[in-house]
Amino acid sequence: MTIQWFPGHMTRARRQIEAKLKLIDVTIELLDARIPMSSRNPMVDDILKGKPRLVLLNKADLADPAITAEWVKFFTDRGLKTLAIDANTGTGVKEILPKCKELMSAKIETQIRKGINPRAIRGLIVGIPNVGKSTLINQLAGRKIANTGDKPGVTKGQQWIKFGTDMDLLDTPGILWPKFDDQNVGMKLAATGAIKEEILHLDDIAFHTIRYMSEYYGERLKERYGIEELPEDSENPNEVIEVMEAIGRKRGAIISGGRVDLEKTSLLFLRELRSGKLGRVSLEVPEEYL
Ligand code: GDP
Repeated sequence: MTIQWFPGHMTRARRQIEAKLKLIDVTIELLDARIPMSSRNPMVDDILKGKPRLVLLNKADLADPAITAEWVKFFTDRGLKTLAIDANTGTGVKEILPKCKELMSAKIETQIRKGINPRAIRGLIVGIPNVGKSTLINQLAGRKIANTGDKPGVTKGQQWIKFGTDMDLLDTPGILWPKFDDQNVGMKLAATGAIKEEILHLDDIAFHTIRYMSEYYGERLKERYGIEELPEDSENPNEVIEVMEAIGRKRGAIISGGRVDLEKTSLLFLRELRSGKLGRVSLEVPEEYL
């Protein structure tokens, strides 16, 4: 399910998060490890204000490990505690609690000094749709709690989920909207499945992704699709289309007259990319954001 974001939805989503912030100690900002910046809400710093925050790069199982390590450093250098995780299998998840404790350490020490028994840390998970918020909540709870595909503006009774004895999490995550104003961002969100592909043209999404992969993961394309020559100049659209056509031929996506069916090729290619058949691929690198 994909949410259609209108200004009213955004205002409501923001208000809902602001109401929840009053109840919690730490925020857990979930990003997609393959596209950390493109999967980030443009107003997140403003919305989460000064609340202690842990950044999680989720779906790290699908992302390029070397690039993910660079992203962890990128966010850490900017003063944000950051972990790479895979909410589906739970890899990295056990490090969340110690990191949250680190974020709260000053407050906890003060409480202990004053003779107050520190209560469980209260956390809220936030992120754009499809980034894995519900999957993570279920993983932390050890059972199915959150409905996938929660809508902004639809309030339901919220509850605390016990995450060990030292942390409680709100069972309804904060849903943030993605960036809209940058076409390049839209392509990456669509390529990873964060937004519905119908919003953009399938062949545009595949074209952008193949162009990027020709540059950074050329060998993978060559290997999987038997491509002999990669574009010399990936800025030249014709050369990228030649790669798309080669993929289509390899997959038998041919229409009458022997031409390659680019629409079908795009669908097949994106499916293979998302299911990890092209290996672990990251679609953005920190250098672009320095
Ligand atoms: P939400 O909208 O943020 O609550 O996202 P969901 O929890 O519904 O997850 C969206 C999709 O991403 C689902 O198909 C999940 O199975 C998948 N997903 C979530 N986390 C991971 C992960 O760490 N790795 C992989 N490969 N898939 C994940």
